[in-house]
Amino acid sequence: DMKLTRTDLERWILDFADQIMEQHLVLSDLDAASGDADHGSNMERGMSALLKSVPDWDGAATPGEFLKEVGLHIVSSVGGSSGALYGTIFLRMARAVGDARTINAGLLSEAFEAAVQGVVDRGKVKQGDKTMLDALAPSVQVLRAKLTDEKSLSEALESAATAAEAGRDATSDMVARKGKSSYARENSRGSIDPGATSVAMLMRSAARTLG
Ligand code: ADP
Ligand code: MG
Ligand code: MG
Repeated sequence: DMKLTRTDLERWILDFADQIMEQHLVLSDLDAASGDADHGSNMERGMSALLKSVPDWDGAATPGEFLKEVGLHIVSSVGGSSGALYGTIFLRMARAVGDARTINAGLLSEAFEAAVQGVVDRGKVKQGDKTMLDALAPSVQVLRAKLTDEKSLSEALESAATAAEAGRDATSDMVARKGKSSYARENSRGSIDPGATSVAMLMRSAARTLG
């Protein structure tokens, strides 16, 4: 049975931060299609600050304390709507894992489901609105299904990352109903949502580092 520790979560977040540093221009280009071209720079600012400060988080010993630090850090350093939404993802995960010393399969699913609910609540969004939710929700559904099916964590996370990427690609056909892209209406159709793209990177990082 797998038991994830704070150290495992740190590996995940550092890998995600590295991916953002490499891909931020792509994310801002996607945001240029119907938004304000800053998703990559918003995320890059937050992740570079995170990379600098994580080594000093000695007080964050448990998975929950670590996730809470990540969430608070993102809220205060990533600009734009994505800052509030990514902050919510990690703060809800932190609350869901509570003071558990390690995270097992069931708790990992619960934490990701809490993150999905956080985006729904905070973004007042539903699937099909062309947002990060369209990558996150199907990914977390697949994660839960695979773990319930007693698949290994690495297989479950691999499938979850693939589902996030499929969800990301499916946003291309959608019309944005939330966020800045919604001002572009029909013109938002035909391009992939930037937030769905960064969330797919988050889930791919999880598969690479937690499985
Ligand atoms: P901003 O829109 O403030 O410039 P970003 O460009 O960093 O912020 O983030 C844009 C992304 O945030 C979108 O691609 C979308 O995935 C996500 N987003 C925006 N508004 C919402 C919302 N209300 N609910 C869920 N996700 C949203
Ligand atoms: Mg933007
Ligand atoms: Mg903006």
